[in-house]
Amino acid sequence: MARLVMKFGGTSVANVDRIRNVARHVKREADAGHDVAVVVSAMSGKTNELVGWCREAAPLHDAREYDAVVASGEQVTAGLLAIVLQEMGIQARSWMGWQVPILTDGAHGVARITGIDGSGIIRHFEERKEVAVVAGFQGMHEPTRRISTLGRGGSDTSAVALTAAIGADRCDIYTDVDGVYTTDPRIVPHARRLDRVSFEEMLELASLGAKVLQVRSVELAMTQKVRTFVRSSFDDPLDPKPGTLICDEEDILENNVITGIAYSKDEAQITLRRVADKPGVAAAIFVPMAEANINVDMIIQVVSDDTTTTDITFTVGSADFERAKAILESSRDKIGFATLEGATDVVKVSAIGIGMRSHAGVAARAFQALAEKGINIRAITTSEIKFSVLIDSAYTELAVRTLHSLYGLDKPQ
Ligand code: ADP
Ligand code: ASP
Ligand code: MG
Repeated sequence: MARLVMKFGGTSVANVDRIRNVARHVKREADAGHDVAVVVSAMSGKTNELVGWCREAAPLHDAREYDAVVASGEQVTAGLLAIVLQEMGIQARSWMGWQVPILTDGAHGVARITGIDGSGIIRHFEERKEVAVVAGFQGMHEPTRRISTLGRGGSDTSAVALTAAIGADRCDIYTDVDGVYTTDPRIVPHARRLDRVSFEEMLELASLGAKVLQVRSVELAMTQKVRTFVRSSFDDPLDPKPGTLICDEEDILENNVITGIAYSKDEAQITLRRVADKPGVAAAIFVPMAEANINVDMIIQVVSDDTTTTDITFTVGSADFERAKAILESSRDKIGFATLEGATDVVKVSAIGIGMRSHAGVAARAFQALAEKGINIRAITTSEIKFSVLIDSAYTELAVRTLHSLYGLDKPQ
Protein backbone atom coordinates (compact mmCIF):
# COMPACT_ATOMS: atom_id res chain seq x y z
CA MET A 1 0.00 0.00 0.00
CA ALA A 2 1.30 3.39 -0.92
CA ARG A 3 0.36 7.01 -0.61
CA LEU A 4 0.02 8.86 -3.92
CA VAL A 5 -0.55 12.35 -5.28
CA MET A 6 -2.17 12.44 -8.74
CA LYS A 7 -2.35 15.79 -10.56
CA PHE A 8 -4.61 16.42 -13.57
CA GLY A 9 -4.13 19.47 -15.83
CA GLY A 10 -6.67 21.62 -17.63
CA THR A 11 -7.17 19.50 -20.76
CA SER A 12 -7.68 16.41 -18.60
CA VAL A 13 -10.60 18.04 -16.73
CA ALA A 14 -11.95 20.09 -19.66
CA ASN A 15 -15.55 18.80 -19.27
CA VAL A 16 -17.58 16.44 -17.10
CA ASP A 17 -16.88 13.49 -19.40
CA ARG A 18 -13.14 13.97 -19.03
CA ILE A 19 -13.57 14.41 -15.28
CA ARG A 20 -15.25 10.98 -15.31
CA ASN A 21 -12.19 9.58 -17.05
CA VAL A 22 -9.96 11.19 -14.40
CA ALA A 23 -12.14 9.57 -11.74
CA ARG A 24 -11.48 6.16 -13.32
CA HIS A 25 -7.71 6.72 -12.93
CA VAL A 26 -8.28 7.71 -9.30
CA LYS A 27 -10.54 4.69 -8.72
CA ARG A 28 -7.83 2.36 -10.00
CA GLU A 29 -5.41 3.59 -7.34
CA ALA A 30 -8.00 3.80 -4.56
CA ASP A 31 -9.21 0.26 -5.33
CA ALA A 32 -5.61 -0.94 -5.07
CA GLY A 33 -5.73 0.24 -1.46
CA HIS A 34 -3.58 3.35 -1.80
CA ASP A 35 -4.17 6.63 0.03
CA VAL A 36 -4.84 9.14 -2.76
CA ALA A 37 -4.72 12.93 -2.87
CA VAL A 38 -5.71 14.38 -6.25
CA VAL A 39 -4.74 17.89 -7.35
CA VAL A 40 -6.80 19.45 -10.14
CA SER A 41 -6.36 22.43 -12.46
CA ALA A 42 -9.20 24.54 -13.79
CA MET A 43 -10.91 23.37 -17.01
CA SER A 44 -8.71 24.28 -19.98
CA GLY A 45 -9.21 27.88 -21.11
CA LYS A 46 -10.97 28.81 -17.86
CA THR A 47 -8.04 30.59 -16.21
CA ASN A 48 -7.40 32.59 -19.39
CA GLU A 49 -11.04 33.63 -19.42
CA LEU A 50 -10.90 34.69 -15.75
CA VAL A 51 -7.66 36.64 -16.31
CA GLY A 52 -9.32 38.32 -19.31
CA TRP A 53 -12.29 39.39 -17.19
CA CYS A 54 -9.99 40.99 -14.60
CA ARG A 55 -8.24 42.97 -17.36
CA GLU A 56 -11.58 43.99 -18.84
CA ALA A 57 -12.76 45.18 -15.42
CA ALA A 58 -9.62 47.32 -15.03
CA PRO A 59 -6.31 47.06 -16.92
CA LEU A 60 -4.41 47.76 -13.69
CA HIS A 61 -6.21 45.84 -10.93
CA ASP A 62 -5.67 44.84 -7.32
CA ALA A 63 -3.65 41.60 -7.29
CA ARG A 64 -5.59 40.31 -4.24
CA GLU A 65 -8.86 40.56 -6.15
CA TYR A 66 -7.25 39.00 -9.24
CA ASP A 67 -6.45 36.00 -7.04
CA ALA A 68 -10.02 35.89 -5.68
CA VAL A 69 -11.23 35.67 -9.30
CA VAL A 70 -8.70 33.33 -10.92
CA ALA A 71 -8.63 30.81 -8.05
CA SER A 72 -12.29 30.04 -8.74
CA GLY A 73 -11.56 27.78 -11.74
CA GLU A 74 -9.93 25.16 -9.52
CA GLN A 75 -12.77 25.34 -6.97
CA VAL A 76 -15.20 24.16 -9.67
CA THR A 77 -13.15 21.18 -10.87
CA ALA A 78 -12.29 20.04 -7.32
CA GLY A 79 -15.99 19.98 -6.41
CA LEU A 80 -17.00 18.27 -9.65
CA LEU A 81 -14.39 15.52 -9.31
CA ALA A 82 -15.47 14.85 -5.71
CA ILE A 83 -19.10 14.53 -6.91
CA VAL A 84 -18.13 12.14 -9.74
CA LEU A 85 -16.00 10.01 -7.39
CA GLN A 86 -18.83 9.80 -4.86
CA GLU A 87 -21.17 8.78 -7.68
CA MET A 88 -18.76 5.90 -8.42
CA GLY A 89 -18.96 4.79 -4.81
CA ILE A 90 -15.62 6.24 -3.70
CA GLN A 91 -15.38 8.29 -0.51
CA ALA A 92 -14.09 11.70 -1.59
CA ARG A 93 -13.99 15.26 -0.31
CA SER A 94 -12.79 18.51 -1.93
CA TRP A 95 -10.28 20.80 -0.21
CA MET A 96 -9.66 24.42 -1.20
CA GLY A 97 -6.16 25.80 -0.59
CA TRP A 98 -7.23 27.60 2.61
CA GLN A 99 -8.90 24.49 3.97
CA VAL A 100 -5.79 22.26 3.78
CA PRO A 101 -4.24 24.86 4.47
CA ILE A 102 -1.62 25.57 1.81
CA LEU A 103 0.11 28.69 3.10
CA THR A 104 1.93 31.15 0.85
CA ASP A 105 3.76 34.45 0.97
CA GLY A 106 1.91 37.63 0.00
CA ALA A 107 3.13 37.93 -3.62
CA HIS A 108 -0.40 37.73 -5.05
CA GLY A 109 -0.53 36.25 -8.54
CA VAL A 110 2.92 34.65 -8.18
CA ALA A 111 2.87 33.47 -4.58
CA ARG A 112 5.33 30.95 -3.17
CA ILE A 113 4.27 28.15 -0.87
CA THR A 114 5.67 28.68 2.63
CA GLY A 115 4.12 25.64 4.32
CA ILE A 116 1.42 22.98 4.03
CA ASP A 117 -0.30 21.32 6.97
CA GLY A 118 -1.20 17.92 5.55
CA SER A 119 -2.47 16.50 8.87
CA GLY A 120 -6.17 17.00 8.07
CA ILE A 121 -5.87 15.12 4.78
CA ILE A 122 -3.90 12.33 6.45
CA ARG A 123 -6.50 12.04 9.23
CA HIS A 124 -9.21 11.56 6.61
CA PHE A 125 -7.08 8.86 4.91
CA GLU A 126 -6.73 7.03 8.19
CA GLU A 127 -10.20 7.48 9.63
CA ARG A 128 -12.34 7.33 6.47
CA LYS A 129 -10.19 5.97 3.63
CA GLU A 130 -11.30 9.17 1.87
CA VAL A 131 -9.76 10.51 -1.35
CA ALA A 132 -8.71 14.17 -0.96
CA VAL A 133 -9.46 16.31 -4.02
CA VAL A 134 -7.33 19.42 -3.67
CA ALA A 135 -7.82 22.58 -5.74
CA GLY A 136 -4.46 23.28 -7.40
CA PHE A 137 -2.92 26.71 -8.05
CA GLN A 138 -4.36 28.31 -4.91
CA GLY A 139 -3.23 28.91 -1.35
CA MET A 140 -3.75 31.35 1.47
CA HIS A 141 -1.58 34.23 2.66
CA GLU A 142 -1.71 33.48 6.36
CA PRO A 143 -1.28 36.96 7.91
CA THR A 144 -4.15 38.43 5.86
CA ARG A 145 -6.09 35.13 5.39
CA ARG A 146 -6.62 36.08 1.73
CA ILE A 147 -6.67 33.64 -1.22
CA SER A 148 -3.44 33.62 -3.22
CA THR A 149 -2.40 31.92 -6.49
CA LEU A 150 0.94 30.40 -7.47
CA GLY A 151 1.50 31.78 -10.99
CA ARG A 152 0.41 30.25 -14.29
CA GLY A 153 0.86 26.50 -14.41
CA GLY A 154 1.02 26.49 -10.60
CA SER A 155 -1.01 23.32 -10.01
CA ASP A 156 2.14 21.31 -10.79
CA THR A 157 3.77 23.04 -7.83
CA SER A 158 0.72 22.45 -5.62
CA ALA A 159 1.02 18.72 -6.42
CA VAL A 160 4.74 18.36 -5.75
CA ALA A 161 4.54 20.41 -2.54
CA LEU A 162 1.59 18.35 -1.32
CA THR A 163 3.49 15.13 -2.05
CA ALA A 164 6.29 16.27 0.24
CA ALA A 165 3.87 17.56 2.90
CA ILE A 166 1.87 14.33 3.27
CA GLY A 167 4.93 12.12 2.83
CA ALA A 168 3.51 10.49 -0.31
CA ASP A 169 5.63 7.97 -2.21
CA ARG A 170 5.09 9.47 -5.63
CA CYS A 171 3.67 12.43 -7.54
CA ASP A 172 2.06 11.58 -10.89
CA ILE A 173 1.50 14.59 -13.13
CA TYR A 174 -1.16 13.53 -15.64
CA THR A 175 -1.36 15.73 -18.72
CA ASP A 176 -2.29 15.69 -22.41
CA VAL A 177 1.01 14.14 -23.56
CA ASP A 178 2.40 10.82 -22.33
CA GLY A 179 5.64 12.20 -20.88
CA VAL A 180 8.46 14.67 -21.34
CA TYR A 181 9.68 14.77 -24.94
CA THR A 182 12.96 15.82 -26.55
CA THR A 183 11.05 18.93 -27.61
CA ASP A 184 7.44 20.10 -27.76
CA PRO A 185 5.75 17.21 -29.64
CA ARG A 186 3.19 19.69 -30.98
CA ILE A 187 5.78 21.39 -33.15
CA VAL A 188 8.12 18.47 -33.90
CA PRO A 189 6.18 15.30 -34.70
CA HIS A 190 9.46 13.34 -34.64
CA ALA A 191 10.14 14.26 -31.01
CA ARG A 192 10.87 11.28 -28.77
CA ARG A 193 9.49 10.55 -25.34
CA LEU A 194 12.17 10.30 -22.67
CA ASP A 195 11.88 7.47 -20.12
CA ARG A 196 13.91 9.52 -17.66
CA VAL A 197 15.14 13.08 -17.44
CA SER A 198 17.37 14.55 -14.75
CA PHE A 199 16.11 17.25 -12.38
CA GLU A 200 18.75 19.66 -13.65
CA GLU A 201 17.84 19.20 -17.30
CA MET A 202 14.11 19.39 -16.55
CA LEU A 203 14.71 22.61 -14.63
CA GLU A 204 16.45 24.13 -17.66
CA LEU A 205 13.84 22.79 -20.10
CA ALA A 206 11.04 24.28 -17.98
CA SER A 207 12.77 27.64 -17.43
CA LEU A 208 13.59 27.92 -21.12
CA GLY A 209 10.00 27.44 -22.25
CA ALA A 210 8.85 23.78 -22.12
CA LYS A 211 5.65 24.41 -20.24
CA VAL A 212 4.95 20.76 -19.45
CA LEU A 213 5.99 21.44 -15.82
CA GLN A 214 6.06 24.73 -13.91
CA VAL A 215 9.65 25.66 -13.03
CA ARG A 216 8.97 25.84 -9.29
CA SER A 217 7.51 22.34 -9.27
CA VAL A 218 10.81 21.00 -10.64
CA GLU A 219 12.83 23.01 -8.10
CA LEU A 220 10.71 21.58 -5.30
CA ALA A 221 10.86 18.02 -6.62
CA MET A 222 14.66 18.35 -6.76
CA THR A 223 15.15 19.82 -3.28
CA GLN A 224 12.49 17.72 -1.54
CA LYS A 225 13.45 14.54 -3.42
CA VAL A 226 9.92 13.97 -4.68
CA ARG A 227 9.62 11.05 -7.09
CA THR A 228 7.75 12.70 -9.97
CA PHE A 229 6.35 11.17 -13.15
CA VAL A 230 4.81 12.97 -16.14
CA ARG A 231 2.21 10.74 -17.80
CA SER A 232 -0.96 10.78 -19.89
CA SER A 233 -4.50 11.08 -18.57
CA PHE A 234 -5.70 9.85 -21.95
CA ASP A 235 -4.26 6.36 -21.45
CA ASP A 236 -6.75 3.62 -20.70
CA PRO A 237 -7.33 3.96 -16.94
CA LEU A 238 -7.05 0.17 -16.64
CA ASP A 239 -3.78 -0.03 -18.59
CA PRO A 240 -1.73 3.06 -17.71
CA LYS A 241 1.79 3.69 -19.03
CA PRO A 242 4.58 4.86 -16.70
CA GLY A 243 5.45 8.08 -18.59
CA THR A 244 8.66 9.98 -17.80
CA LEU A 245 10.45 9.86 -14.44
CA ILE A 246 12.23 13.03 -13.29
CA CYS A 247 15.22 11.73 -11.36
CA ASP A 248 18.82 12.21 -10.27
CA GLU A 249 21.51 12.35 -12.94
CA GLU A 250 23.09 9.16 -11.56
CA ASP A 251 19.91 7.21 -12.31
CA ILE A 252 20.12 7.85 -16.04
CA LEU A 253 21.97 5.22 -18.00
CA GLU A 254 22.01 6.55 -21.52
CA ASN A 255 23.50 10.03 -21.86
CA ASN A 256 23.13 12.09 -25.02
CA VAL A 257 25.15 15.26 -25.36
CA ILE A 258 21.87 17.14 -25.86
CA THR A 259 18.70 15.89 -24.18
CA GLY A 260 16.15 18.41 -25.36
CA ILE A 261 15.32 21.60 -27.24
CA ALA A 262 13.06 24.30 -25.78
CA TYR A 263 11.75 27.58 -27.11
CA SER A 264 10.22 30.64 -25.53
CA LYS A 265 8.27 33.33 -27.32
CA ASP A 266 7.90 35.39 -24.15
CA GLU A 267 11.02 37.40 -24.95
CA ALA A 268 11.67 40.98 -26.00
CA GLN A 269 14.89 42.58 -27.19
CA ILE A 270 16.03 46.09 -26.28
CA THR A 271 19.01 47.82 -27.92
CA LEU A 272 20.53 51.08 -26.70
CA ARG A 273 22.64 52.76 -29.37
CA ARG A 274 25.61 55.01 -28.75
CA VAL A 275 25.79 54.60 -25.00
CA ALA A 276 28.73 56.41 -23.38
CA ASP A 277 31.59 53.88 -23.06
CA LYS A 278 32.66 54.62 -19.48
CA PRO A 279 32.60 52.96 -16.05
CA GLY A 280 29.19 52.85 -14.39
CA VAL A 281 27.04 52.73 -17.52
CA ALA A 282 26.05 49.08 -17.20
CA ALA A 283 25.06 49.77 -13.60
CA ALA A 284 23.02 52.80 -14.68
CA ILE A 285 21.05 50.54 -17.03
CA PHE A 286 20.67 47.34 -15.07
CA VAL A 287 20.30 48.51 -11.45
CA PRO A 288 16.96 50.26 -12.20
CA MET A 289 15.82 47.07 -14.00
CA ALA A 290 16.63 44.99 -10.93
CA GLU A 291 14.94 47.51 -8.64
CA ALA A 292 11.79 47.25 -10.75
CA ASN A 293 11.96 43.42 -10.47
CA ILE A 294 12.59 43.06 -14.20
CA ASN A 295 14.60 39.98 -15.10
CA VAL A 296 17.30 40.64 -17.68
CA ASP A 297 18.53 37.60 -19.55
CA MET A 298 20.91 37.87 -22.52
CA ILE A 299 23.28 40.87 -22.54
CA ILE A 300 25.58 41.89 -25.38
CA GLN A 301 27.90 44.88 -25.30
CA VAL A 302 29.56 45.70 -28.58
CA VAL A 303 33.19 46.78 -28.49
CA SER A 304 33.16 50.39 -29.63
CA ASP A 305 35.25 51.49 -32.59
CA ASP A 306 35.48 55.13 -31.56
CA THR A 307 36.20 54.35 -27.84
CA THR A 308 33.63 56.93 -26.71
CA THR A 309 30.34 55.14 -27.37
CA THR A 310 29.07 51.56 -27.52
CA ASP A 311 25.83 49.63 -28.24
CA ILE A 312 24.16 47.45 -25.60
CA THR A 313 21.52 44.82 -26.40
CA PHE A 314 19.64 42.76 -23.83
CA THR A 315 16.45 40.75 -23.43
CA VAL A 316 13.63 40.96 -20.91
CA GLY A 317 10.39 38.97 -20.59
CA SER A 318 7.80 40.31 -23.05
CA ALA A 319 5.45 41.09 -20.14
CA ASP A 320 8.08 43.56 -18.83
CA PHE A 321 8.92 45.13 -22.20
CA GLU A 322 6.86 48.34 -21.92
CA ARG A 323 7.88 48.91 -18.31
CA ALA A 324 11.57 48.38 -19.15
CA LYS A 325 11.40 50.87 -22.02
CA ALA A 326 9.68 53.47 -19.83
CA ILE A 327 12.34 53.11 -17.12
CA LEU A 328 15.17 53.50 -19.65
CA GLU A 329 13.55 56.54 -21.26
CA SER A 330 13.17 58.16 -17.85
CA SER A 331 16.91 57.70 -17.15
CA ARG A 332 18.02 58.68 -20.66
CA ASP A 333 20.11 61.61 -19.38
CA LYS A 334 21.82 59.56 -16.70
CA ILE A 335 22.65 56.65 -19.02
CA GLY A 336 23.34 58.87 -22.01
CA PHE A 337 22.18 56.87 -25.06
CA ALA A 338 21.25 58.15 -28.53
CA THR A 339 18.38 55.80 -29.46
CA LEU A 340 16.38 52.96 -27.97
CA GLU A 341 15.17 50.15 -30.24
CA GLY A 342 12.91 47.30 -29.22
CA ALA A 343 11.58 44.11 -30.78
CA THR A 344 9.02 41.58 -29.56
CA ASP A 345 8.91 39.36 -32.65
CA VAL A 346 11.80 37.31 -31.29
CA VAL A 347 12.10 33.81 -29.85
CA LYS A 348 14.74 32.19 -27.67
CA VAL A 349 15.62 28.67 -28.78
CA SER A 350 17.72 26.61 -26.36
CA ALA A 351 19.46 23.24 -26.34
CA ILE A 352 19.92 21.48 -23.01
CA GLY A 353 22.06 18.51 -22.01
CA ILE A 354 24.33 17.50 -19.16
CA GLY A 355 26.63 15.99 -21.79
CA MET A 356 27.65 19.54 -22.74
CA ARG A 357 29.84 19.61 -19.65
CA SER A 358 32.24 17.14 -21.20
CA HIS A 359 31.97 17.94 -24.92
CA ALA A 360 33.48 20.91 -26.72
CA GLY A 361 32.05 22.64 -29.79
CA VAL A 362 28.43 21.62 -29.19
CA ALA A 363 27.03 25.14 -29.64
CA ALA A 364 29.31 25.91 -32.59
CA ARG A 365 27.64 23.13 -34.60
CA ALA A 366 24.28 24.77 -33.98
CA PHE A 367 25.47 28.18 -35.18
CA GLN A 368 26.64 26.58 -38.40
CA ALA A 369 23.42 24.61 -38.93
CA LEU A 370 21.28 27.69 -38.35
CA ALA A 371 23.42 29.72 -40.74
CA GLU A 372 22.95 27.09 -43.43
CA LYS A 373 19.18 27.60 -43.07
CA GLY A 374 19.64 31.37 -43.42
CA ILE A 375 18.63 32.04 -39.80
CA ASN A 376 20.26 35.12 -38.31
CA ILE A 377 21.28 34.97 -34.63
CA ARG A 378 20.59 38.19 -32.70
CA ALA A 379 22.10 37.12 -29.37
CA ILE A 380 23.67 34.08 -27.72
CA THR A 381 24.10 32.88 -24.15
CA THR A 382 25.72 29.74 -22.88
CA SER A 383 26.13 28.05 -19.53
CA GLU A 384 27.36 24.70 -18.30
CA ILE A 385 24.50 22.55 -19.57
CA LYS A 386 22.69 24.74 -22.13
CA PHE A 387 23.01 27.40 -24.78
CA SER A 388 20.37 29.74 -26.18
CA VAL A 389 20.05 31.78 -29.35
CA LEU A 390 17.71 34.68 -29.93
CA ILE A 391 16.25 34.70 -33.46
CA ASP A 392 13.29 36.14 -35.40
CA SER A 393 10.11 34.39 -34.26
CA ALA A 394 9.15 33.58 -37.87
CA TYR A 395 11.92 30.93 -37.80
CA THR A 396 10.86 29.22 -34.55
CA GLU A 397 9.79 25.88 -35.99
CA LEU A 398 12.58 25.71 -38.53
CA ALA A 399 15.21 26.42 -35.86
CA VAL A 400 13.76 23.92 -33.35
CA ARG A 401 13.52 21.19 -36.00
CA THR A 402 17.02 21.93 -37.30
CA LEU A 403 18.60 21.60 -33.84
CA HIS A 404 16.47 18.58 -33.00
CA SER A 405 17.81 16.71 -36.04
CA LEU A 406 21.34 18.06 -35.66
CA TYR A 407 21.73 16.48 -32.22
CA GLY A 408 20.24 13.14 -33.27
CA LEU A 409 17.03 13.51 -31.30
CA ASP A 410 14.57 12.62 -34.09
CA LYS A 411 12.60 9.44 -33.60
CA PRO A 412 13.70 6.72 -36.05
CA GLN A 413 11.24 6.72 -38.98
P1 ADP B 1 -1.60 20.79 -18.27
O1 ADP B 1 -2.82 21.56 -18.63
O2 ADP B 1 -1.86 19.32 -18.13
O3 ADP B 1 -0.86 21.37 -17.11
P2 ADP B 1 0.28 22.03 -20.12
O4 ADP B 1 -0.38 22.58 -21.33
O5 ADP B 1 0.64 22.98 -19.05
O6 ADP B 1 -0.67 20.86 -19.55
O7 ADP B 1 1.59 21.19 -20.51
C1 ADP B 1 1.51 20.16 -21.46
C2 ADP B 1 1.97 20.69 -22.81
O8 ADP B 1 3.35 21.03 -22.74
C3 ADP B 1 1.92 19.67 -23.93
O9 ADP B 1 0.65 19.65 -24.54
C4 ADP B 1 3.02 20.13 -24.89
O10 ADP B 1 2.50 20.81 -26.01
C5 ADP B 1 3.84 21.11 -24.08
N1 ADP B 1 5.29 20.83 -24.10
C6 ADP B 1 6.25 21.73 -24.38
N2 ADP B 1 7.46 21.18 -24.36
C7 ADP B 1 7.28 19.85 -24.06
C8 ADP B 1 8.16 18.74 -23.89
N3 ADP B 1 9.49 18.87 -24.03
N4 ADP B 1 7.62 17.54 -23.59
C9 ADP B 1 6.28 17.39 -23.44
N5 ADP B 1 5.40 18.41 -23.59
C10 ADP B 1 5.88 19.62 -23.90
N1 ASP C 1 -5.25 26.90 -13.96
C1 ASP C 1 -3.95 27.52 -13.75
C2 ASP C 1 -3.38 28.00 -15.07
O1 ASP C 1 -3.98 27.81 -16.11
C3 ASP C 1 -3.00 26.62 -13.03
C4 ASP C 1 -2.66 25.33 -13.74
O2 ASP C 1 -3.37 24.90 -14.64
O3 ASP C 1 -1.65 24.71 -13.37
O4 ASP C 1 -2.35 28.59 -15.09
MG1 MG D 1 0.50 22.98 -16.96
